Amino acid sequence: MPHSSVLYWIRNDLRLADNPALTAAIASGQPVIPVFIWSPEEEGNWPPGAATRAWLERSLAALAAAYETCGSRLILRQGSTCDILLSLCDECGADTVVASRRYEPSALRQEADVRDALRESGRSIKVFNGSLLNAPNDVATQMGEPYKVFTPYYNACLKREPLAVPYPAPERIPAPVKWPATETLESLTLTPEHPWVGKMLRHWQIGEAGAQARLAAWVDEPVTGYPVNRDLPGISGTSTLSPYLHFGEISPRQIAHAVRQYPVHRDESVNANESYIRQLYWREFAHHLLYHFPHTPEEPLKELFGRFPWVKNDAYLKRWQRGQTGYPFVDAGMRELWETGWMHNRVRMVVASFLIKDLRIHWREGADWFWDTLFDADLPNNSLGWQWVAGCGADAAPYFRVFNPVTQGMKFDGAGEYVRKWVPELAALPDKYIHCPWELGPIELASHGVTLGNNYPHPMVNHDEARKTALAIYDELKSLGE
Ligand code: FAD
Repeated sequence: MPHSSVLYWIRNDLRLADNPALTAAIASGQPVIPVFIWSPEEEGNWPPGAATRAWLERSLAALAAAYETCGSRLILRQGSTCDILLSLCDECGADTVVASRRYEPSALRQEADVRDALRESGRSIKVFNGSLLNAPNDVATQMGEPYKVFTPYYNACLKREPLAVPYPAPERIPAPVKWPATETLESLTLTPEHPWVGKMLRHWQIGEAGAQARLAAWVDEPVTGYPVNRDLPGISGTSTLSPYLHFGEISPRQIAHAVRQYPVHRDESVNANESYIRQLYWREFAHHLLYHFPHTPEEPLKELFGRFPWVKNDAYLKRWQRGQTGYPFVDAGMRELWETGWMHNRVRMVVASFLIKDLRIHWREGADWFWDTLFDADLPNNSLGWQWVAGCGADAAPYFRVFNPVTQGMKFDGAGEYVRKWVPELAALPDKYIHCPWELGPIELASHGVTLGNNYPHPMVNHDEARKTALAIYDELKSLGE
């Protein structure tokens, strides 16, 4: 094989369009060898969860098919990333590896190891930001410090706009005369053998084409109602693009660009578009925080919370995981997650608050469950989300803000559509009682097909009492810290 190939190491950029690393590989004028390496043991404390593995398998299949249409191939390998890249460089006569940068702590370590190994063998790596609008260290306060509050961070980012126009997908990718060997997708044994996974997958069209279809449907209309509808879990009021963003099947720049281009003829659309794009900056902020505070997936950013007396209760944890808490809004959220691999943001906040403050179970246990079951499981966003609700992260909800699962349900799911969908045993209850069935007497409940303790649980804790206990512990903790 001639000494003329470039290796393109695929990471969280499972797409062809708007892909700076792939664009650079093609621009080198050399044959491009795209390679994905399955190396879960290099992900530190956060090896991919079950949902992630299942999505990844389908996403790689879709990507391989897309490469074929460009006259190229996807090479799959598993094992040590450094060893595999070095041996592929030898085999293909490549002097350069190009890749997208991932910003999680273990991924940065992995990149540094690869860089060192390539340098020692007289080769180099070129890395590109293809996953964020701004790299985490592109933005800093006037003192050169990381931001810990969202709004000034967001304002600083806006000053850096306008965003560049996304790259189109390549039509052809130069191929080598001889391809290196690839492993089969099946040999990576990504998808866990659990019927739960197959059921969840039915809700999604995985891969770049699926991401583009979702984006097209989103900008066609629903984004216009985003400022109001985004809080209503009973309707499709958010984009559900989070898994696609996580795997890099779509770039945030493609989303921002498409959203700003589209419904300019509608008066209300400009504000709606910007309110939606602002959420993309929460994702950016999460990356910024994790980059600067790499311990936050495991430890609270506010150290005081390290001394919180968490309760260890596996039976309670399991009831929360399975949507059997007796609080319909919480149970609907946990069951939506179990059925679809996704949960609405408003409900994520409520179920997280319930676990942390009503049950006083450590937020890490909730983060672990989300990590295993969410298709969008994402270290920066998940860490930010859990620490935000726990009150121990950057720009977090104050600890004393305890979400009331009943009033949250009444406010954001007033007619009970969401609860009826995911907790069908309560479907016949009148709207007024759908979020608090225990307020109806047993006879009336039975007339609507519900018997508490039989086909739907009694509330596992009394929210008002649990709230008081949590706040008393917090006050004590605060006094110790002062
Ligand atoms: P949209 O409302 O359509 O927003 C568009 C995009 O903006 C999202 O896809 C996401 O990338 C980003 N975004 C929106 N809200 C947030 C937010 N609050 N924080 C960070 N980015 C945001 N998001 C994940 O992607 N992965 C996670 O593992 C994750 N864990 C979470 C855990 C908790 C406890 C909480 C409270 C939130 C978590 N989030 C997580 C954030 C948020 O719930 C999801 O990003 C959102 O629900 C995804 O749905 P969507 O794509 O329809 O969002």
